[in-house]
Amino acid sequence: MKKKGILIVVSGFSGSGKGTIMKELLKKYDTQYALSISATTRQPRVGEVDGREYFFKTREQFEKMIADGELIEYAQYVENYYGTPKAYVEQMLEEGKDVILEIEIQGALKVKEKFPDTLLLFVSPPSVEILRKRLIGRGTEDEKTVEKRLARAVEESAGIENYDYLVINDKLDVCVEEVHSIIQNEKFRVSRNINFIQEIRKELKSF
Ligand code: ADP
Ligand code: 5GP
Repeated sequence: MKKKGILIVVSGFSGSGKGTIMKELLKKYDTQYALSISATTRQPRVGEVDGREYFFKTREQFEKMIADGELIEYAQYVENYYGTPKAYVEQMLEEGKDVILEIEIQGALKVKEKFPDTLLLFVSPPSVEILRKRLIGRGTEDEKTVEKRLARAVEESAGIENYDYLVINDKLDVCVEEVHSIIQNEKFRVSRNINFIQEIRKELKSF
C-alpha cells in the first residue's frame, strides 16, 4: 500500500513570497508535491489563469460551494472569500503526494483543527521594509489595498506561535531548500510511522 502524503499549510504576510517559493518548489520537485488550487471571489491579477492560480468565482458560486460542503475551509481576507476545495486534496494525499495549502492564518487554524497532523509553516520576509518593497514592487494592488494587506499582516503576526516552523525568505533558492527539507524531515517523525512500527512489532513476535 502506498504511504499517504503529508498535509502542509504555508502561510505568511502578503508579499512575503509564499507564491514564489511554492512555484519554485513545485518546479524543482514536481513529482513529490501537489499544490492545492483555492477558490476565490477576488478578481484575477494580470497573468493569472482560471484553474491555475485560483478558481475564480462569483460570491453566489462561492456561497454555493460552502453550502454544498465542497470546501475543507474558507475565510474572508480583505473583502474577499478564499477557500480550499476538498476533493483534490483528498485525492492527492491518497496518491502519496505531499499536499501544500498556501492559505492565510484563519484557514490554517481550521485545517489544523480538522486534521491535527497537518504541518504548519510560516514564511516571513527578513524585515517589514523588505515586505513593503516586495508588496509594492509586485505592482498588483493599488495603494489602498497594499495598506489593507499590511494592516492584516499586523493581525497575522499575532498568530505565528500557532505554527510549527518559521522560514525567513531572504534568498529565494535557500528558502526553497529549507522548506523542502523541513517537509522531508517531518516524514521521520515517529507518530507518522505508526503502521511501520506495528508491522515490525508483529514480525518480531512471530519470529
Ligand atoms: P505572496 O505570495 O506571499 O503574497 P509573492 O510570491 O507574490 O508573495 O512575492 C511578492 C513579491 O516579492 C514578488 O514580486 C516576488 O517576485 C518577490 N519576491 C519573492 N521572494 C523574493 C526573494 N526571496 N527575494 C526578492 N524578491 C522576492
Ligand atoms: P492573494 O489575494 O494574495 O492571492 O491571497 C490573499 C491571502 O489569501 C493569502 O494570505 C493567501 O495565502 C490566502 N489564501 C489563498 N487561498 C486561500 C484559501 O483557500 N483559504 C484561505 N483561508 N486563505 C487562502
